[in-house]
Amino acid sequence: MRKYQVLVLAFFAVQGCSHGPTTEIDADLWIRDVAVVSVGHDRQADTSDVLVRDGRIVFVGKLTAHRVKATTTVIDGTHQFLIPGLIDSHTHLSDIPGLVGEDEPSVAAIASEARTQIPRSYLYHGFTTVIDLNSRPQAIDDWNAQSVRPQAYFCGGSPVFDGYPMSFMPKPARYQMMPYFLYDETRSAEFPEGIDPRHHTPSAVVERIHDDGGICVKTHYERGFGERRDLPIPSADLIRALADSAHARGMPVLMHANSEAAQSFAIATGIDAFAHGMWTWNDRSVTAMHTEIERIVDTTIENGISLQPTIQVLYGERDIQNPEYLDDPRLAHVLPASLLAWYRTEAGQWWRQQMLQNPFVAQLVKEGHWDELDAEPIARVSNVLRYFTNHGGALLFGSDTPSSPTFANPPGLNGRIEMDRWIAAGVSPLQLFTAATIGNARFFGIDTEIGTIETGKRADLLLLGDNPLLNVAAYDTIEYVILGGEVLDRSDLSADSGAVHLSSRTNVLTQ
Ligand SMILES: [Zn+2]
Repeated sequence: MRKYQVLVLAFFAVQGCSHGPTTEIDADLWIRDVAVVSVGHDRQADTSDVLVRDGRIVFVGKLTAHRVKATTTVIDGTHQFLIPGLIDSHTHLSDIPGLVGEDEPSVAAIASEARTQIPRSYLYHGFTTVIDLNSRPQAIDDWNAQSVRPQAYFCGGSPVFDGYPMSFMPKPARYQMMPYFLYDETRSAEFPEGIDPRHHTPSAVVERIHDDGGICVKTHYERGFGERRDLPIPSADLIRALADSAHARGMPVLMHANSEAAQSFAIATGIDAFAHGMWTWNDRSVTAMHTEIERIVDTTIENGISLQPTIQVLYGERDIQNPEYLDDPRLAHVLPASLLAWYRTEAGQWWRQQMLQNPFVAQLVKEGHWDELDAEPIARVSNVLRYFTNHGGALLFGSDTPSSPTFANPPGLNGRIEMDRWIAAGVSPLQLFTAATIGNARFFGIDTEIGTIETGKRADLLLLGDNPLLNVAAYDTIEYVILGGEVLDRSDLSADSGAVHLSSRTNVLTQ
């Protein structure tokens, strides 16, 4: 524990509480005189005491007479704000931004340092819970076995057979990499030998995800892009069956659907969320809301489908072309210096170069107009988000980190910037705060554990210098990240905080 806490304890031991009956505080941690900011906590103007024991919140209120045990850690929260730990509900935890699995052995030490830092970077920006939308139990168990990391949960990825994203993976490895893919009867002739179609029906897939510890299902509607177009897409009946099976198990279904075509397909299939905003519209010449887009968004809201805009995906494509991007001082806190240096090498620039193969991108960059890249999809996704929010739609906070092999989707910081994108699009600080805490927790059925500051919940908390309901910049004033009751000094989580311990972990898993 830190020195200041010892000092505070000594102070209390001397002063104690001399008036009235005393109550012995049986707690590991006492955050005193702090403004609690938590959905449903209606006394934000007052200060509270929050007690934590065995990693759980055991008291939220005002202690009147008390004696503190000598072993209790005390934090004076005067003039500070205590909020629940944030939830990023769209991550890909096995991926290092900008570094794909097959390149990892050539830079093993750099990759190892990155894997040690990535969990700390999420925590640095206050994300104490992360949901990997496409993972497997071993990868999540390995993540959660680390000593300092956000709690991870996962969805099973259920694309249609040989559809997106498994079509981007080599055969036959893709059938192991995406074990929860869906069997599509119309393509049975191509079904791989040795794989039993009966294990790939919607109900069989859902049962396996559930038995493997997954808390949600992620499916996809994507015809493809770049050189891979006309990919197989699921039928509405297949998705309805998937949603029915998942709901019977209490699991929500998210769909990768970032186009007008995908979202208009999915609004009547019973799914629960779009894992991206709508950035591709049928009429590619417009970015302003029009009747047909409004109809789709209205139906999305009526059918209770949540929206996860993931605007940073688009900025990740743009920022990688910014010649000054790697000079952003915020990166040094979330990425090891060795990885940042590697991004500057020819090998590290591979994805940037690949994007430059597109003549349109190359021309803009050549003219110095990299900041116009993806301007139309960014306008569309922002306009839809504004409309959706103004009409009462339910938002899920997620960053999709990293979304592509771009290095411009850094862990933790990407979520923090996504917050700015939401505010710029017209989401209020309260709507953002709700989505990133209890909104996400309720959607994924983990709200008895996290999402608010209430007795019985896991003590995943953030101590902030400013009030996040007044200004999004308050998320930059995190002083302590409290993880299961353990107090972590934010600066100790930075990649820039001194020695980084090289880990021997080399497990590489692909989404
Ligand atoms: Zn994703």
